[in-house]
Amino acid sequence: MTSDPKLLHKQYVMPTYAPGLTLVRGEGVTVWDDTGKAYLDCTAGIAVCNTGHCHPAVVAAIQSQAATLMHCSNLFHNLVQPRLAQRLAELTLGGKVFFCNSGAEANEALFKIARKWGSADGRYEIITMKNSFHGRTLATMTATGQTKYQQGYAPLMPGFVYADFNQLDSVRAAITPATVAILCEAVQGEGGVIPATPDFMTGLRDLCDQHDLLLFFDEVQCGIGRTGAWFGYQHYNVRPDGFSMAKALGGGFPIGAATVTPELADIFQPGNHASTFGGTPLAAAAALAVLDTVENERLIDNANQMGALLKDGLATLAQKYPLIRTIRGLGLMIGVELTVPAKPLEARLRDNGLLCIATGENVLRFVPPLVIREPHIRQILKALDQVLATA
Ligand SMILES: *Cc1c(COP(=O)(O)O)cnc(C)c1O
Repeated sequence: MTSDPKLLHKQYVMPTYAPGLTLVRGEGVTVWDDTGKAYLDCTAGIAVCNTGHCHPAVVAAIQSQAATLMHCSNLFHNLVQPRLAQRLAELTLGGKVFFCNSGAEANEALFKIARKWGSADGRYEIITMKNSFHGRTLATMTATGQTKYQQGYAPLMPGFVYADFNQLDSVRAAITPATVAILCEAVQGEGGVIPATPDFMTGLRDLCDQHDLLLFFDEVQCGIGRTGAWFGYQHYNVRPDGFSMAKALGGGFPIGAATVTPELADIFQPGNHASTFGGTPLAAAAALAVLDTVENERLIDNANQMGALLKDGLATLAQKYPLIRTIRGLGLMIGVELTVPAKPLEARLRDNGLLCIATGENVLRFVPPLVIREPHIRQILKALDQVLATA
């Protein structure tokens, strides 16, 4: 018999992940492992803990709502969910919101909206981008334009076709009489932190208008202030017909949502779609506290300022270390492309007290909590400098 979490994990948890550290506590931008070692967390739960670990306002909202009404099913109104929907609609498209529990489910809702909308004239095909990431359910894994995630799961979900990201001609060529929608990330996250170009984003809108297609964005990773705007697409002056969100929406509490314009707001009627846990009072209270905190603490401004500072520092390091090939991203969603594999560097930075995520072959992804301040940025740059000096 053992109570060692690593051994229990090895014996009883299906090995879909290969975790390293055991984390036991978090506060702001810092997490602690089971030996008491502190880390500056530039993973933030993969762009989830935008308000920082255990933000007092988010913790208080969860504690209070958990003790009042945790769950009541969507067969009844609750006091919190409609307020969250209003807030999200007012911040973005002015339409309506469907609540679920994850990013994949939020994208699934968009797919069902697209298919339902297209069913009137027999259209169902959705164009997604190569190198994208949209989730791990059968449909979202199919939508994900990376074959490595699809190996062994044939037959894939019908109705998805792929185009090259940031290549408008490729998207245009993928349009057929069956096309109903285009789905795209404003900044490809999993794919290596690659922002869409302004011409591509406005071009997508034009293509959708010309061909009567829906334009959907996947804001699961780049939403909730991460890029220095509430949502990534808002950098581009393009209005989508709908978009998905999840990750940071609940600040660590699971919640996902899809929102659409007023034109599409009533496409789902009672019985057309559902989720047992979608928008429970508890999840909605967490999300409202996250949105309040982002606003009250001006975290979007901070994401812009700290992101610029980090990028400046990285650019200086790039002059010193030719191993840094490019630095890209928006706000506090930053990728450092290296000339060498990123995994070993990720491990050495971890030993140095800095957590970041290797993505793709050779990109280090930095997505710290948006509450990060200047001393932490200096700490990141110092850790990188030390590790790169001996890489
Ligand atoms: C993480 C992610 C998803 C999937 O979200 P889950 O909550 O893991 O289902 C979808 N799209 C993007 C862009 C993501 O980063």
